[in-house]
Amino acid sequence: MTETELRPWRDDWAARVAGADCPLCGVIGVPDSDWARRFYTGEFADAYLPKSGSVPGYTVVVWNGRHVAEPTQLSPAEAAGFWQDVLRVGAALEQVAEHAKMNYQLLGNTVPHLHAHVVPRPLLDPVPHRPLPWSYLDEGRQAEDVVAGYAARLAAALAG
Ligand SMILES: [Zn+2]
Repeated sequence: MTETELRPWRDDWAARVAGADCPLCGVIGVPDSDWARRFYTGEFADAYLPKSGSVPGYTVVVWNGRHVAEPTQLSPAEAAGFWQDVLRVGAALEQVAEHAKMNYQLLGNTVPHLHAHVVPRPLLDPVPHRPLPWSYLDEGRQAEDVVAGYAARLAAALAG
């Protein structure tokens, strides 16, 4: 599929970037939801295992302060704290998830609240050496016991 047609961002995009109806602002403080299970609460960011997709250990680290869309909206101390939380979670994932490579993605093209997708790329991978198509993170559901198992092992790694 080629996407050569140029299209505008959706009508309410500027309001969403400013924080209107932000689903991630709504999830801060929620330990378990239909979307994800939280396994880490940091000073600057919290980490969740989304229940969607087909990549075990797929994690989203969410800035847990006021709504911001870009890391440039943080003070230097906040930015340093956010990255320290992201890297702390990434180090725990390296211990827990078998991986050929860790991927860190700051996108926010659907939900413009600062968050990082931290993806352990499996040893047997659908597209080794290339970005993972979004469908592997978004389509389908992971087994609840798999998510719960990762949450427990990641929480233990972060405590240790
Ligand atoms: Zn938000």
